[in-house]
Amino acid sequence: MNIVVVGCGIVGVCTAMALHRRGHTVTVIEAASDAALVTSYANAGLLSPGHCFSWAEPGIARGILKAFLTGADYPRIGTPRNKALFRWLRRFIAQSSPTAWQHNSYHALRLSQLSRDVHFREEIIPLHAYDAARNGLLYLYKAATMPAESELKLLQDAGEPFHILHGDALRAKEPALQRTENHVFETGTYCEKDAYGDARLYAQESIRLAQQSGVNVLWNTSVKEIMVQQDRVTGVSTNNGFIPSEGCIITSGQGSVSLLNALGYDLFIQPISGYSLTYQGVQGERPQHAGVSIADKIAWAPFGQDRIRFTGFADVGMPSKRLAQQRFASLKAFAQQLCPSVQEAESLPWIGQRPMTPDGLPYIGQGAHQGLYLNCGHGAMGWTMAHGSAHVLAQVIENQQPDIELHPFRYDRRFL
Ligand SMILES: Cc1cc2nc3c(=O)[nH]c(=O)nc-3n(C[C@H](O)[C@H](O)[C@H](O)COP(=O)(O)OP(=O)(O)OC[C@H]3O[C@@H](n4cnc5c(N)ncnc54)[C@H](O)[C@@H]3O)c2cc1C
Repeated sequence: MNIVVVGCGIVGVCTAMALHRRGHTVTVIEAASDAALVTSYANAGLLSPGHCFSWAEPGIARGILKAFLTGADYPRIGTPRNKALFRWLRRFIAQSSPTAWQHNSYHALRLSQLSRDVHFREEIIPLHAYDAARNGLLYLYKAATMPAESELKLLQDAGEPFHILHGDALRAKEPALQRTENHVFETGTYCEKDAYGDARLYAQESIRLAQQSGVNVLWNTSVKEIMVQQDRVTGVSTNNGFIPSEGCIITSGQGSVSLLNALGYDLFIQPISGYSLTYQGVQGERPQHAGVSIADKIAWAPFGQDRIRFTGFADVGMPSKRLAQQRFASLKAFAQQLCPSVQEAESLPWIGQRPMTPDGLPYIGQGAHQGLYLNCGHGAMGWTMAHGSAHVLAQVIENQQPDIELHPFRYDRRFL
């Protein structure tokens, strides 16, 4: 099949590669000048089936209301405060019942596990090429808190291995935790099959390989309209002219909403801002593992030989300048506690917007038009889910039975 893939973030790259390897003729169209320059640019890098639970968790409505009314720290509502934002928030809260949380987290976990299998089955890109490590991830809890029973049960039921570590055993696993005077972690869940790596390096290396092996990539090209005739895709109209195709896959992250809206699709994808500080040229000790402080909502990953990235927070919409400054100050303070050697290193700040659906599951599958497919809205887990999403979408396109149930990912779900 002759297929265009619209968008070359981590999801578009994996989708293009999956289809190319199955013998399809693939053209990738990307508005930017290289792969992964938007949301996939400087994310936390965690490949984390062990903590891919839905963010619409029981109690979240109270947290949002408190933050809105009192200015409490987390999560904050940014701009624009328009109809789309409130429609989305209503659905996000509707998805936070214990039953919905369990359902959404279960399907996120199934997709993430599949994604890991596909990703590491052949290791086409070697780990060192994207500063990756497969030594597990640590999810850390402060003195009085413990991992939620409901989360551990989900992992157990899905056969996902984990170990609960306390006190000295935890600090033996990650010696950097001995330094965290103000971040006393007493308990951690260690998920040994989780991993991390730089999504941008991975995407850019993959797309170069794809180009060498025959995938056509059009940089600096924006898709303006998906063209259909009698409910069948005929191609896409771009700023560089019309490109005919039999199939069109929308992997455009946040940009998917307006592209598909023109054809009558009503997608619920809201930008959720997150922040990262990447330190480079770090001399001296760094943590041996990547991890997450659950209470602080901050993750870190020691990339390659001399980099370490700290990432965190989730603010609905776009943050004010003042809020962004506060977020970076918190990341910096945390970084200096966990890894004092960052004080001498250069730091690169970045803000990205997670393209998030209310239930945290992406849209994957065929649209209402012949030849139109969706693979977008991966929210907080696009790197963790990218290979699995690409794999099952390729199965859909080839009329094969997908490896996981795809009903929860359908494009016409309403979330209420
Ligand atoms: C702070 C932060 C930390 C994160 N940490 C993690 C993590 O640890 N693990 C994890 O799994 N996920 C993480 N994520 C989420 C992850 O980064 C996203 O889910 C993922 O990057 C989404 O990828 P994507 O390819 O769908 O979108 P994008 O990377 O945004 O790519 C979409 C592409 O489509 C292009 N495009 C859009 N419209 C058009 C058009 N009309 N024509 C042509 N091109 C178009 C854009 O230019 C862009 O390149 C994090 C996100 C943030 C912000």
